[in-house]
Amino acid sequence: MQTKILLDESRIPTHWYNIIPDMPGPLAPVINPRTLQPVTPDDLLPIFPMAIIEQEVSGERWIPIPEEVREIYRLWRPSPLYRARRLEQALGTPAKIYYKYEGVSPAGSHKPNSAIPQAFYNKQAGIRRLATETGAGQWGSSLALACSMFGLECTVYMVKVSCTQKPYRKSMMQLWGANVIPSPSEFTNAGRAILAHDPDSNGSLGIAISEAVEDAVSRPDTNYALGSVLNHVCLHQTVIGQEAKEQLALAGDYPDVVIACCGGGSNFAGTAFPFLADRAAGKNVRCLAVEPASCPTLTKGVYAFDYGDTAKMAPIAMMYTLGHDFMPPGIHAGGLRYHGESALVSQLHHAGLIEAKSYRQNACFEAAHLFARSEGIVPAPESSHAVRAAIDEAVLAKEEGKEKTILFCLSGHGQLDMGAYDAYLSGGLEDFEYPEEMIRESLARLPKVDL
Ligand SMILES: *Cc1c(COP(=O)(O)O)cnc(C)c1O
Repeated sequence: MQTKILLDESRIPTHWYNIIPDMPGPLAPVINPRTLQPVTPDDLLPIFPMAIIEQEVSGERWIPIPEEVREIYRLWRPSPLYRARRLEQALGTPAKIYYKYEGVSPAGSHKPNSAIPQAFYNKQAGIRRLATETGAGQWGSSLALACSMFGLECTVYMVKVSCTQKPYRKSMMQLWGANVIPSPSEFTNAGRAILAHDPDSNGSLGIAISEAVEDAVSRPDTNYALGSVLNHVCLHQTVIGQEAKEQLALAGDYPDVVIACCGGGSNFAGTAFPFLADRAAGKNVRCLAVEPASCPTLTKGVYAFDYGDTAKMAPIAMMYTLGHDFMPPGIHAGGLRYHGESALVSQLHHAGLIEAKSYRQNACFEAAHLFARSEGIVPAPESSHAVRAAIDEAVLAKEEGKEKTILFCLSGHGQLDMGAYDAYLSGGLEDFEYPEEMIRESLARLPKVDL
């Protein structure tokens, strides 16, 4: 009986799976925040290469992965699929638990799956430099890695408070050659406006996005790259689910439930979309997105048009949202603190094709602790949400005396998140109440889109 199911390098997928042609109904338009009219490719060309813009709206079900991208994917793909036998034993469950481990990438998460093709398409379009933002540092380090592989310059606006909280993520980015700028900074109008008002600002993801976009718009040699939420990012991540499906087939299995944590939705999309394709073809498979109770976008948000960022510079999309100026409590799963959600994941949830669930952080760290002691790998705080949900599904199977096959995505390792684990071990981890009042106030400020 196998514990680790590996695929040969030649089994790295040759195509990404694009779910757009299989969506339940047409996509809602994306709206330009200045004109309040649908975004056109011309609106996006100052910050994205044409190949990425085309992928954002493509109706092709299978999109070829460039050979140059597959060549770099080989450094860590196909990623391993594990059967979590020791965890199953610890739980005494009749369920089989499998996890797809994306922490084997050089940056330690699934994010390079999209950073690599984004850097590639920009290089191909003659771009010399990329600008982006990062919160906890996972995306910034992934893009820094990708830029170093393709010889691009990389500037990362890093939320100022994270620069002190996650200093090693900053070192990683610098090691890969990126220029890391604490945000808000003196380098952009957006940053200067914030500093004039509040010189000690801690910064936020919304402000950092505004700085990175302004940087990209103001320089012809520079584009912008986003690490989640957008359709092309979800597309690139589908290598996860495609490989997992093949690995499960080698083990003679197919999941009853597919689980992933959900921040902007990209690792969930990447894991679940290839299985949703089977579901559309009649297979019986549930897909479950897991989010923090303190930032419960899918479970407590509304399905509406909202801005992608706090500064109202990013496009307006139809999605589940808590309001663009909602400031989630400072939980340790920094990568899940986003007010909105991928439009594709949102539409699928609205149509009832996927499920969503939320957990508080202590419950997630407890699950991660049990996982680390049985399986060895220390999960990223974000991934611990998926671990929690998988354990709960397995415990339910035990209570019901039923067999069940569970697949979850372990989106990254937590080796640079020891501050969070220290806080958990010393009992200093706060469980935030569901911030109902703040969410209600924020939802009152949604844009009025009238098409
Ligand atoms: C960024 C991140 C997430 C959340 O992002 P998604 O786009 O929702 O996948 C989850 N896990 C890890 C390890 C991350 O770095």
